[in-house]
Amino acid sequence: MPFWEEKQLTEMTRDEWESLCDGCGRCCLTKLEDIDSGAIHYTNVACRLLDTDGCRCTRYRARTKLVKDCVELKPGDTETLAWMPVSCAYRTLHEGRPLADWHPLVSGDPDSVHKAGISVRGKCVPEQLADADELESYLIDWIET
Ligand code: SF4
Ligand code: SF4
Repeated sequence: MPFWEEKQLTEMTRDEWESLCDGCGRCCLTKLEDIDSGAIHYTNVACRLLDTDGCRCTRYRARTKLVKDCVELKPGDTETLAWMPVSCAYRTLHEGRPLADWHPLVSGDPDSVHKAGISVRGKCVPEQLADADELESYLIDWIET
């Protein structure tokens, strides 16, 4: 059995944990929280450190020092998982669902997340080019939360 079917998230090695990330880049988009309901809404504005083509963090090791709102997801962090995309591999396994066919660990192809249209490639705006005062105009509905 593959490790992600055999082990709990809390039992995985560091390398196994890191390999679970499908490289979609979705969690690196700016999110807005509804003050009244607490609901999280995604925009297509990407963090300034996201490579918007490769959909990976350009400063992964130093990310939480360089971006104050960047959250390092850890096993058992259910509060963070709650606002991750439904498609996120960590949330998927946490909720007892199987990894999707397009997940690189399943397909064996690192590009499958892009080919399946799951990643943010070609669908996001770098933070540096977005109007920070008009974030509501960047709201999107193609990420299920
Ligand atoms: S949403 Fe999940 S799988 Fe996608 S980049 Fe973020 S941590 Fe990785
Ligand atoms: S610092 Fe890196 S991992 Fe954190 S939100 Fe920005 S691009 Fe994503």
